[in-house]
Amino acid sequence: MDYKDYYKILGVARGASSDDIKKAFRKLARKHHPDVNPGDKKAEEKFKEINEAYEVLSDADKRKRYDTLGPNWQEQFGPNFSGAGRRTYSYGGGGGGARSPFDFDAGGASGFSDFFEALFGRSNAAGRSAGMGGGMRDDLRRRAGDSIEQPVEVSMQEAYMGGSRTFNIQSTEVCTSCRGTGEVNNKSCPTCGGQGQVPKSKRLQVKIPAGVDNGSKIRVAGEGQPGIGGGPRGDLFLVISVRPDPTFERKGDDLHVAVNVELVKAMLGGEVAVPAPDGRKFLLTIPSETQNDRQFRLTGKGMPRLRGEGSGNLYAHVKVVLPMQLTAEERELFEKLARSRGVEAHS
Ligand SMILES: [Zn+2]
Repeated sequence: MDYKDYYKILGVARGASSDDIKKAFRKLARKHHPDVNPGDKKAEEKFKEINEAYEVLSDADKRKRYDTLGPNWQEQFGPNFSGAGRRTYSYGGGGGGARSPFDFDAGGASGFSDFFEALFGRSNAAGRSAGMGGGMRDDLRRRAGDSIEQPVEVSMQEAYMGGSRTFNIQSTEVCTSCRGTGEVNNKSCPTCGGQGQVPKSKRLQVKIPAGVDNGSKIRVAGEGQPGIGGGPRGDLFLVISVRPDPTFERKGDDLHVAVNVELVKAMLGGEVAVPAPDGRKFLLTIPSETQNDRQFRLTGKGMPRLRGEGSGNLYAHVKVVLPMQLTAEERELFEKLARSRGVEAHS
């Protein structure tokens, strides 16, 4: 059993990032896909090999195991495992001519090599083979496209009310000149420059739900990168950040706002207007002798909950505003007040 160099198969360096591995895989998979090479046995073998390499290198655990064992894996692993030991996996082979549907000894139909099965077990390969048709697994031929993340900044008002935005999404689609293979007549495809994909710009209107917060992700199904072999497109995710607001401070689903209250109103009590981010104003009745910094709760007037029912609370913080530019009469009143409260002041 030969050691398989999965890095070489995908044409990536040993330290390649998962992103690089994915890119290399997708390019090769498009090129060698059975759909674009009908009846080509060599392409089919290559395609299986690419998928196997990706199966290992795209999975952190499998990749680690593969890297640890290295090219000398047979010595480290012991001959029993790669040889007869493997046979201990039994898939209920019905005797006689009737083959169990899980008996993949016939031509290695699982799509995985002996090397792979020795390393990760047969169950790993066979278990994923359900639904396979024509000797090759279906999920191997069809792969969903990558997702796209698009950062979106919204105002506090948009977060409060919800809204809708139009975006120009930069995506790609499979090049029609070369059907994604990147090659025409064994030369680099002039349309896509050998990339197999061409850029595509699309205008898209997306609803922003009320209650979004920093880091909220809004999924727009099917607007990501194209899939392979008829696989579905990936999704588009809007990644939200909410611009800090000079008036409202957000704490989870609660909002806090400072409300200026004139001294006499704080003393005698009365109604004050409390603003909401959508421009509404709520009338709040404050009692007499309301102290500076006192906080009032307006239940259910905070941020709508993105998941779940209702809204948080809106908290109004009283900021007592002292009067300025007193008239002579007002000054007299304050002097009277000072005497009444036994306060020594300039007069
Ligand atoms: Zn092309």
